[in-house]
Amino acid sequence: MSNDQNDQVAKIVSLCKRRGIIFQNSEIYGGIQGFYDYGPIGSLIKNNWKSLWLKNNVQQRPDMVLIDGSIITHPKVWEASGHVKNFADTMVECKSCHKRFRPDLLKDSSKCPECGGKFTKGRKYNILFETDIGVIEGEKTHTYLRGEACQTIYLDFQNIVNSSRVKIPFGVAQIGKAFRNEITPKNFLYRTREFEQWDIQFFTKEAEMDKWYEYWKTERMAWYQSLFNQKDSLQFRQHKKDELAFYAKKAFDIEYQTPWGWAEMEGIHWRGDYDLKQHSEFSHEDLSYNDPLTHEKYLPHIVECSGGVDRSLFFLLLDAYQEQKLDNGETRTYLKINPKVSAYKLAIFPLASNKPELVTAANKLFTHLSSKYSVDFDDSSNIGKKYRRQDEIGTPWCAVVDYQTLEDNTVTIRDRDTMSQVRVKIDEIDTWLQKKLN
Ligand code: ATP
Repeated sequence: MSNDQNDQVAKIVSLCKRRGIIFQNSEIYGGIQGFYDYGPIGSLIKNNWKSLWLKNNVQQRPDMVLIDGSIITHPKVWEASGHVKNFADTMVECKSCHKRFRPDLLKDSSKCPECGGKFTKGRKYNILFETDIGVIEGEKTHTYLRGEACQTIYLDFQNIVNSSRVKIPFGVAQIGKAFRNEITPKNFLYRTREFEQWDIQFFTKEAEMDKWYEYWKTERMAWYQSLFNQKDSLQFRQHKKDELAFYAKKAFDIEYQTPWGWAEMEGIHWRGDYDLKQHSEFSHEDLSYNDPLTHEKYLPHIVECSGGVDRSLFFLLLDAYQEQKLDNGETRTYLKINPKVSAYKLAIFPLASNKPELVTAANKLFTHLSSKYSVDFDDSSNIGKKYRRQDEIGTPWCAVVDYQTLEDNTVTIRDRDTMSQVRVKIDEIDTWLQKKLN
């Protein structure tokens, strides 16, 4: 990465730490590579990010159901899926500076990008995280943390069909943790060792695969575009023939234009009947679907949309980060994040923190609105600092309770992006916010 590119990521990392959005995990012990924690603001943002996905893909669809599978599964799952054999990345080490790299991610894999040194021969490393179940030596079961969240959907397929009233075509959605012992975790949340994935597995007849593949490709891109500011920073990348799994007719990634180039955010995969076939074979259970109307029996085919929750959230932060030169020469930093995703919809301040009547009125407003919206309350002293904080965490509106409020029950509401102010009646804030959030 060039200095400028580093700069942009560094600014986000620093803002995330300063404002309680994301912290390096175990920082007091010097940190641990590839693991991050969401702070008080980041947890709210991440929950909203996931809720929007759930709303769009489960709540608003009669043809989708949700599951929440466990992280540890029977070890055979990962043999059946092919991960034990094939979930491996190649690593090389520089003979001079001893830094390690994945050659497939280097622009020039003939020499070390840090010092120009020669590389050792590439060696393959399986990136599944291993663990043992049980406490007695000799009786432990060796297994893995799930390397991709979607496998539990295939494991539960039969139970879902038998217990719900789903009929093909239908989809199963899941948001859950995945673990990969990445050789080179890097670029903040982009490549970590523990992360969340959001997955849709859409089950259909083989003959309808093309139709549903195109449908989901369009749907998922449109969803991201509706939430990112810069629509042209999103694109599809079609996988080349030699990148395709043998069972895939085609594959597309939805990519985001990061400071270090286009990078995958979500994969739209043609999984065919591969997964259900593998699990049928390894478990000796027949995972076929019986069509209740036609009485046909077949293994459904699958279109998968598999995205990274943390990775896409990082891209959303990159998309939202703004610096604005003000007339007084200062630079204002703000996160132009969609209000549906922001931690708070409204921040409430009393104009002066040492005026009890204003603090009480502001508190009352907080109590009134917080039963319906995520709102913040700040009665610290400096109003400029309060705005700066809310701008940097992306709060779209700030309401100030002043002396006029005590007379006519109105507050000033300031807009994060334009800094313009309007006077709104307290009784009308709820409707005002509802309109803005629609
Ligand atoms: P990459 O090529 O970047 O390693 P992948 O093709 O292996 O990704 P998938 O297995 O398709 O990724 O996983 C689906 C999604 O999960 C990716 O599009 C990405 O958003 C997210 N993801 C994968 N690996 C990581 C990781 N190490 N850290 C954060 N998110 C990840």
